[in-house]
Amino acid sequence: MKPTTALDVTVQAQILELLEVLRNETGMGLLIITHDLGVVADIADRVVVMHNGCVVETGNADQVYHSPQHAYTKKLISAAPGNGLMSDSDMSAKPILKIQNISKEYSGCKALDSVSFDLLEGESIAIVGESGSGKSTTAKLLMGLEDASGGRALYMGKDIFTLSKKEMKSIRRDIQMVFQDPSQSLNPRMSIFQIISEPWIIHPDILPKSQWEERVIALLEQVGLSAEHRHRYPHQFSGGQRQRIAIARALAVEPRIIVCDEAVSALDVSIQAQVIDLLANLQKELKISFIFIAHDLPVVKDFADRVIVMRLGKIVEIGTVRQIFENPTQPYTQALLNASLDPDPRVQSVRRAERIALSAS
Ligand code: ADP
Ligand code: MG
Repeated sequence: MKPTTALDVTVQAQILELLEVLRNETGMGLLIITHDLGVVADIADRVVVMHNGCVVETGNADQVYHSPQHAYTKKLISAAPGNGLMSDSDMSAKPILKIQNISKEYSGCKALDSVSFDLLEGESIAIVGESGSGKSTTAKLLMGLEDASGGRALYMGKDIFTLSKKEMKSIRRDIQMVFQDPSQSLNPRMSIFQIISEPWIIHPDILPKSQWEERVIALLEQVGLSAEHRHRYPHQFSGGQRQRIAIARALAVEPRIIVCDEAVSALDVSIQAQVIDLLANLQKELKISFIFIAHDLPVVKDFADRVIVMRLGKIVEIGTVRQIFENPTQPYTQALLNASLDPDPRVQSVRRAERIALSAS
């Protein structure tokens, strides 16, 4: 079996490949509408950049990427995932969470098979891998949403898999989760004020009621929203704003760890970049540790200190973001990287050639 079989990103690559073949065979023109600069870099000869219903720039794909003329084009390019700086991780911090040989079986099927890693204080660790590799299962075990079949998860020295209900309640406060689809995790009948203050009903010792209003406003501002937003309801916000609300709610309990399961995967690229910026700032300011799950590699490059590559319930490779992106040791990691799309047409044409060579060998 080739290492590239059945990756999410390779499905995308295969479709682009097919379009290219069809175009060459039939001589047809191809009009591709996308928000993904990687797709543009992979397949387009010319680009038309639109903003607010108007064409702001047109040109050859390489030119537009390397010498954009319009401010909006420049903004789009700088927001492309993978265009930020990689962090040089500080590995001297203490582990806040020690995950040891955790496993999960679903009626004979091993969703997770003896996974171990440490999460350090203030660190963001990304978990990447194709769909079905066990990423969400890892998150669910840590959140106590599913029972583990084996292994331990030591938080401040205590195994969270064997805690009593009462102990679990206090740990719930320290480990928060942000999901992919905020419209499902935010109750549509509750105002933003109610949504953000709800954890204080569950944990009454956090904040006296007299301070709720002030704190909700501060949290909204911290995530880039404003005070008057507290009177509105989830449907009155965009996807990116709803994800900010979900983050504000997670912050309301002053967590030590936030687990983000595909939290930016459903968002448009420029919104994605804004939410990632927000998470990066929160990580710095509040020293929160992150487990950041994504199937998209470029997205984690800008945010992660370390990256875990998973496949079929196992860890394939773990390393600093630099090691994984610049010197991956495993063919599977290499295949994942080759299948992901770079927004730079020059980089992408090299990557495309490598990918084709790899799949031909
Ligand atoms: P990922 O998040 O990486 O896409 P998951 O952790 O959701 O992967 O799933 C890992 C494996 O476990 C998959 O093969 C999936 O089908 C299986 N699985 C997940 N949840 C359940 C469940 N509730 N019952 C049975 N199998 C499950
Ligand atoms: Mg998942």
